[in-house]
Amino acid sequence: MADELTKFQAEVAELQTKLKRWAQEYYENDAPSVEDAVYDLAYNRLEALETQYPSLKLADSITQQVGARIKNDLPKVPHPVPMLSLGDVFSVNELTEWMTTTAHIIGEQLVYNAELKIDGLAISLQYENGQLIQASTRGNGNTGEDVTANVLQIENIPVQLKEPVTIEVRGEIYMPKAAFAQLNGQREKDGLVTFANPRNAAAGSLRQLDASITKARQLAGFMYHVVDAQETLGVTQQAMLLTRLAALGLPVNTSNQVISDIDELEGYIEKYTQNRDQLAYGIDGIVLKVNELALRQTLGSTVKIPKWAIAYKFPAEEKLTLVQDIIWTV
Ligand code: NAD
Repeated sequence: MADELTKFQAEVAELQTKLKRWAQEYYENDAPSVEDAVYDLAYNRLEALETQYPSLKLADSITQQVGARIKNDLPKVPHPVPMLSLGDVFSVNELTEWMTTTAHIIGEQLVYNAELKIDGLAISLQYENGQLIQASTRGNGNTGEDVTANVLQIENIPVQLKEPVTIEVRGEIYMPKAAFAQLNGQREKDGLVTFANPRNAAAGSLRQLDASITKARQLAGFMYHVVDAQETLGVTQQAMLLTRLAALGLPVNTSNQVISDIDELEGYIEKYTQNRDQLAYGIDGIVLKVNELALRQTLGSTVKIPKWAIAYKFPAEEKLTLVQDIIWTV
């Protein structure tokens, strides 16, 4: 047993080192050196070892952190209500298990809102009396970067809402596929390093000291969350919130669907697994959220993820065996 623990201790240390390096490349430099599937596999292995051997779970483990350190010159913005990540699952079986556990905690069958998981970076927009006064990135969840000047350059983010409400709206900034193709094509012609994917291109384009660069990059946003939405907007359900956000003039992805049973969920997943290539923006899965906002308080969160939502990630396009090989050689 002691020998086994020592062996796994070495593996955990190695995984922490690799994952922290990859996270730095991805979140800080917007330039990942490995595919997401490689990262996810290593991350899941680490999480499994930490669950099986709790003594191997370090206080500063990457499994306890949102995003990465913030190390650029943009001013910092605190998030009094932390901006969290999402727990993820990779199969419908795991998704139904999560639904069963969640319903069990609440003690009744639940209704969910299924949304597309937009492949961009999280944003917080602060509106005061309907006026956009600050925009910030998620950063490490507790502190983000001030990107107000940059967000003002994004065409579909309104400076003025249709009602004078004071709210913190959260959502995703992404780079449409066409803009990504155009940008990388131009960079190739200019002999510049190309971006690995639209998500990293969006992050690199938003986290700029020069907002005119952001303007040229044709970013867009989809909003899906409001902090304390029940108090500030008087809405009680997630699907209703999306309709309300659209009425305020905010960009909302309307592919959401209220889900009451597993057949509907499977239909939704199937539809977007098939159709994702036809969308004008990248998605890397779907997000399932408990529709009734009041239940979120009961379900709560960990330091990293809310317990009232989960991401189902689409299967990676590359072969897993190949990915497994890479993981131990990178
Ligand atoms: P995540 O991107 O997997 O999921 C959480 C995020 O999803 C939220 O913060 C939000 O920004 C976004 N999101 C998109 N649509 C949403 C919607 N409709 N509702 C709610 N949220 C929505 O989590 P993360 O913590 O940002 O990043 C972890 C992932 O990043 C990993 O699973 C991995 O795939 C990738 N990553 C890759 C590398 C690499 O080297 N390739 C390194 C680090 C992380």
